Amino acid sequence: MAGKKEVDTRFSKFGTVSFTAITKINDFIDYLEEGKVMATRCKDCGTVFFPPRADCYKCLDSNMDWTEVSGTGRLVTFSKLEYAPIGFGDDLPYAIAVLDYGDYKVFGRIAGNVPEEEIRIGMDMKTVVNELPNGQLNYVFQKA
Ligand SMILES: [Zn+2]
Repeated sequence: MAGKKEVDTRFSKFGTVSFTAITKINDFIDYLEEGKVMATRCKDCGTVFFPPRADCYKCLDSNMDWTEVSGTGRLVTFSKLEYAPIGFGDDLPYAIAVLDYGDYKVFGRIAGNVPEEEIRIGMDMKTVVNELPNGQLNYVFQKA
């Protein structure tokens, strides 16, 4: 007989709007609180997942380790938003972007303090933890 389910809501601390409060990768939030942005790596095939996943779609298994998104990624594309999804309107304008870390890519937002005229395709950027004014956590891209 199944025991009483414990609800783990750590993910409610992520970002402006929480898309989900219950996931299998809640340790992501604990790492953010330690100042680390983490991905998961499959122990069997080595595939790195960001956003972190609890299961490897190649191996159909859940043999995962956490690995830090460290060093720099190359900016492969970005887009400045003039309109935003519900909940993000107060942040406008901001730029979403993709960094290529070689083995994996990270999708996110360029930090608001990076001047638009300094953003160049191919530039090196790093992924850093960002604390929002309301105490919520997310991550942003900063110039390397
Ligand atoms: Zn795998």
